[in-house]
Amino acid sequence: MSVPSITLNDGNTMPQLGFGVWQVDSETCTDVVLKAIEFGYRSIDTAMIYGNEQGVGNAVRECGLPREELFITTKLWSDRHDNARLGLEESLQRLGLDYVDMFLIHWPNLKLNKYVDAWKGLIECQEAGLAKSIGVSNFTKNTLEDLFAYTNVIPAVNQIELHPLFAQEEMRAFNASHGIHTEAWSPLGQGSLMNEEVLGMLASKYGKTSAQIVLRWHIELGNIVIPKSVTPARIAENFEIFDFSLDEDDMQLIATLNVGKRLGGNPETADW
Ligand code: NAD
Repeated sequence: MSVPSITLNDGNTMPQLGFGVWQVDSETCTDVVLKAIEFGYRSIDTAMIYGNEQGVGNAVRECGLPREELFITTKLWSDRHDNARLGLEESLQRLGLDYVDMFLIHWPNLKLNKYVDAWKGLIECQEAGLAKSIGVSNFTKNTLEDLFAYTNVIPAVNQIELHPLFAQEEMRAFNASHGIHTEAWSPLGQGSLMNEEVLGMLASKYGKTSAQIVLRWHIELGNIVIPKSVTPARIAENFEIFDFSLDEDDMQLIATLNVGKRLGGNPETADW
C-alpha cells in the first residue's frame, strides 16, 4: 500500500495521507510519531501551539530514515504574525531541524489583521530555504483574496476543518480554482462520526471500519488528510485505506451527512 503523492503548485510533492499530533504531549509524541513512521506514514502535522515540536523532532532523528524521506509541517501562531521568520527559526530550534517541508499560517486572526504581513514573512522563509513549501490554514475566500492582492505567491495548501458533517464544498472549489490544495483537519470529525449509521453500513459493505470509510471518502475527493490517534491499532487502521475505493453512489451517500456543522473555531471570528 502506498500513499499517493500530491504535486503542489510550487512543484514540491506532499503525501496525501499524514499524521496529526494536536493534543498529544511532547513526550508521548515521540513514541506515537515513531509508531506512525513504522506503519508507513511519512508526513507529520504539528504546530508551535501544540507544544510538541520537540517530541516530533526527536522522532525524526530516532526513526533512522533520511530526513528527505519525511515531510514535516509546522504552523505560525498569531504572536509572530509580525515576524514569521523568527517564528519559524524558533520552531526549527524546537524541532532540531534546519528546514520544514511545509510552513502554514495557523489562523488568519482578523482582529489582529496582520495576516498579509505574516504571509510576506512566509515568502521570505521559503526564499531563505527554511520552508520548502508555504501555505495557510483556516483561510476564507476574503483572506485568501487579500494574499492574492498584496503578494504574488499563492499558498500551496489551505488546511481547513473538513469532514462529512462539514464538507466545505464551496471552500474546496475556491481553493481548487486557484491551484491551492485543500488539506482536511479533524478529518474524522474528532471521532464523533464513528456511530453514524450510514458509515456503519458502508463499513460492513466494504469490510472496513467507519474511520477507514471516512478517510477513503477524503482521498477520493482529493483532500490531503491528517488523522490523529495515539492508539497504535488505530494509527495502523487509518493507514490501511489504499486497497479499496468507494463507488460513486456511496460517495453520494456520505455527502448526505453534510449538515454544515463546525466542531472547531470559525475563521471569521476566531481571534487567535
Ligand atoms: P481527527 O478528526 O483526526 O480525530 C481524532 C480522534 O478520532 C482521535 O482522538 C480518536 O478519538 C478518534 N479516532 C482516530 N482514529 C480512529 C479510528 N480508527 N477509529 C475510531 N476512532 C478514531 O481530529 P483532530 O486531531 O482534531 O484532527 C487531526 C489533525 O488535524 C490534528 O491532530 C492536527 O494535526 C490538525 N488540526 C489542525 C487544526 C488547524 O487549525 N489547522 C485544527 C485541528 C486539528
